[in-house]
Amino acid sequence: MSAARARPAGTPIAEIRDLVVTYPTSRGPLKAVDGVSLDLTEGEFLGVVGESGCGKTTMALTLLRMSDPGRVTGGAVKVEGTDILSLRDEALRKFRWEKVAMIFQAAMNALDPVKTVESQIVETILQHQDVTKEQARDRVRKLLEAVSIDPARAKSYPHELSGGMRQRVVIALALCLSPSILVADEPTTALDVVVQAEVIRTLKELQRGLGLTVMLITHDISIMNETSDRLAIMYAGKIVEVGPTSQIISDPQHPYTEALLNAVPVMGSGKADVRGIPGNPPDLVSPPVGCRFSPRCPYAFDRCREEEPPLVFGGKDMVACWLRSK
Ligand code: SF4
Repeated sequence: MSAARARPAGTPIAEIRDLVVTYPTSRGPLKAVDGVSLDLTEGEFLGVVGESGCGKTTMALTLLRMSDPGRVTGGAVKVEGTDILSLRDEALRKFRWEKVAMIFQAAMNALDPVKTVESQIVETILQHQDVTKEQARDRVRKLLEAVSIDPARAKSYPHELSGGMRQRVVIALALCLSPSILVADEPTTALDVVVQAEVIRTLKELQRGLGLTVMLITHDISIMNETSDRLAIMYAGKIVEVGPTSQIISDPQHPYTEALLNAVPVMGSGKADVRGIPGNPPDLVSPPVGCRFSPRCPYAFDRCREEEPPLVFGGKDMVACWLRSK
């Protein structure tokens, strides 16, 4: 259902380099994303994890060119080799949703209540693609099947569907133009644990079945075990650890990742006790000197409060911590 891919396996489909996104505030500039570099490999399921306000959503919006270009004060973003920060007008309209689509937080509440599922998706397809209404309807049926909804429900209105089904309709809507990359921003926040697992499973099946590249943004690292291929951990506008999910879950290298894991029960990890992370994330208008996690880190030492650790290979994965680098 997604467009045929002609790129070799393992090729970066998206490249974010030294990205800086700055918002003006009454107290001065706030760097929501501060020097982030991250590749997204074609066909992978990448989890981006961090507490609220760490820059995950801002980074993802830039990938979709949905943040104001003026806010991008440094770096570059390429998708399939195209510099997306320079796209304008029609090229930008075609890029957005046809190359990269996004599911926003609480998006299921944004479905039009007076239109059927079918009419909402058909409308979007016809706005972007030169196909007949019948071809668009046929595509809706296939999309609903792909997200495990009986195509007979195409004539349903959103209020006639459960929360989990509405969220899967939102996923179908996001996929209706066959994007290469699907970004899902906290897609399960409003759902109970069972339905949450179903939605995550649907995303995983789409990644495997359609060869879709998925970036799932969440504050909840516990849903990533057995779901994502890789994890990128964000803290205070920066990436502090990147590596294979199994490696990070079983042997986190950064104290913040360790704290995130200690704060939740992680399925399959064998860990039972849960401990909250002390303190709060820093004010990004005036972040701490040195390591931004130092005020909350139980391992902090003098160098941590003076020099910022770079993101480097620390023996097991990429990590920004003086405990793992010289
Ligand atoms: Fe903790 Fe220092 Fe590592 Fe930062 S650099 S996470 S303060 S040990």
